[in-house]
This record gives sequence, structure tokens and C-alpha cells, in this order.
Amino acid sequence: MDKQKETVSKELLEQPFYIKGSYKELSEYIYKGDKVNLTDQEWEHLLNDWQFYILRNKGTERAFSGKYYNNKEKGIYVCAACGLPLFLSETKYESGSGWPSFYQPIKKEGEPLRIREEMDTSYGMIRTEILCNRCGSHLGHVFPDGPPPTGLRYCVNSASLRFISESE
Ligand SMILES: [Zn+2]
Repeated sequence: MDKQKETVSKELLEQPFYIKGSYKELSEYIYKGDKVNLTDQEWEHLLNDWQFYILRNKGTERAFSGKYYNNKEKGIYVCAACGLPLFLSETKYESGSGWPSFYQPIKKEGEPLRIREEMDTSYGMIRTEILCNRCGSHLGHVFPDGPPPTGLRYCVNSASLRFISESE
């Protein structure tokens, strides 16, 4: 069993809202814009302390400490809190930042955005926060210094993600 499977609780995976499936099913998933609205108390119960801190209290893991910054396997990254597929491994690149970095989220034609953005002025910086548009969980930030074709760097906490390998 890999580390990630141990950290997403069985209870969370059993919630009716949690999107589950194989790599193929998840990559074909179409987001219709539904929302998951849980109270802090409910999230606290379903997530472990670390996930709750990152996802619901907008925490940041230390650079080079997460389990996915160096993951080069082919697969799909979903929101750890609700299972919404967010990034394909094909759009992941080595940014050197110590956090998983992607140049583009999954967006199928005609779909609502899977990731929403908010201005973040904490720590005396102006940054663009990225959140799961389905459950409102904090993912990380997006910066305008990424590679082509988008020029964007989606800098995401490993704890905000769950990886499903193509070979699973
Ligand atoms: Zn989510």
C-alpha cells in the first residue's frame, strides 16, 4: 500500500460525494459544476490533522517535504478532499520549487472550471490562491512564471492531492 492511500481515510473514500475510479474513469470524468459543502467540523472528522491544516486552513507544507514533488509516474492527481480530478501527470514539470508543479489543470470543453482563484494578501505578498472549485479546499498558488504553452505554474501542496497511477 502506498503512503497516499494510508493518509486518505477509509471513511472519506466511502463518502457518497467522493469521486472514485480507475485512472481511465477519472481521466474521462466530466465535471458538471456540483459542489461539496461540508462544515469545518465534518472536514475535521474526515481528514487527518495535516490534511485539515493544509486543505481547510490554507496551510503550506515545507518545500521538498511532500510525497509528490518528485513523482514522475504517469497518472492523474485528484483533490484529496473530494476526489475531483485536477491535473494530469503530462502537465507536471520540474520547477525546482520543491512542490508539485503543473502548467495546466484539467479543463474539458464546456465544463465549469475545476480550480478557482482568489487573491491572497497574507504574509505581505500578493499571490493568487488556487482552490478546488467543487469543495473549496485550498490547493496552493498559481504564478505567472511557468513553462509554455500556458506560462503558468500551479504550485500545489502534495497534501492537497491524491495520485492515481495509470497502472493501478
Ligand atoms: Zn475538492
